[in-house]
Amino acid sequence: MYADAVLSVFSQRYAGARDKFISAVETSSIVERVNNIIHPVRGPKNERLFCDIAWAGSPKAKNILVLVSGVHGVEGGVGSAIQSDFVGRHRRLPADVCVVMVHALNPWGFACASRNDHEGIDINRNFVDFNAKLPDSADVIAIWEKLSKQKDAVDLVGEQREQFDKLSQGQYSKADALYFGGEKASWSRQTIEELVAQLKPEKRDNVIVIDIHSGLGPYGYGELICDHPPETAGQKKARELFGPTVTEPALGTSTSGVKYGLHDYFWHQQGDNVCFLTLEFGTFSNQQMLKVLFADQQLQQSGKIDWSDQKTLDIKHAMQDFFCPDETQWQELVLFRGRQVIEMALEGLTTNANGS
Ligand SMILES: [Zn+2]
Repeated sequence: MYADAVLSVFSQRYAGARDKFISAVETSSIVERVNNIIHPVRGPKNERLFCDIAWAGSPKAKNILVLVSGVHGVEGGVGSAIQSDFVGRHRRLPADVCVVMVHALNPWGFACASRNDHEGIDINRNFVDFNAKLPDSADVIAIWEKLSKQKDAVDLVGEQREQFDKLSQGQYSKADALYFGGEKASWSRQTIEELVAQLKPEKRDNVIVIDIHSGLGPYGYGELICDHPPETAGQKKARELFGPTVTEPALGTSTSGVKYGLHDYFWHQQGDNVCFLTLEFGTFSNQQMLKVLFADQQLQQSGKIDWSDQKTLDIKHAMQDFFCPDETQWQELVLFRGRQVIEMALEGLTTNANGS
């Protein structure tokens, strides 16, 4: 299908993924501007970590496509590959279109092969109003206690499946458990807030955001998840752009449930001209996912992580193999779908630019 050279955009690890992205950006004729935003915490080898934001096409364009990778750290390899492939393949963009690539929004999680950030925060549950009353987490914590005790026997069918859906909604009271939304705006959230302040969505005609994730759904399938509320402009736009491949948690048509504090919600607030979709690539089963996540969570709670310990590496490699499998078939499916979604988004933006 695709040649090895095409698939070489994939890297399970942050350093390799960043090198590929930066070198694609440096040799690109369409990238006009790059911001390398330094993260406050260093990586496992004491290396500096960055969220890199590249603007392709004129930053003044009326139509914007935003591609985000690495909200969930370890999932970054997927979105990074799609971003590097995009930059490498395009010599020009449609008129009045700018593509903004946010590479490794949670670089610490990517570099340390964790889903959360350096403060244990799940970035994709962090976009809540911390000045208002937070969702009650008592039920979720009770489920967490139960599932984490049975973690080797979790089979996630029937009642356990419902419990898993409830758990993954997000919780705001237990920092050392999964799906913790935090107590304040995370570094990654602030980075997005600063980007939006520069982007000024209210001054654009159309903004489409594609946030790339992995780990939920059938192997290799790229599900376009729309969390815009039913009957809103955003939902209508998502359906218009991508047709019946759009799924909606609110309607029960997605592999994902309704969740608190999603990255989506922040962009939804920017106006009716903003359409946000999560592009979620399936890998293996939810049971398998919980197993690797539990092991990583336990490791993080054990204190300082010893990167020279083989047990640490085994846990981290299992995370990388789960969220970004190093398998040709999977990579081909991801690349095909990634290209398809981007081209459809660009077409949608240009159709609108022509006023048709
Ligand atoms: Zn994710």
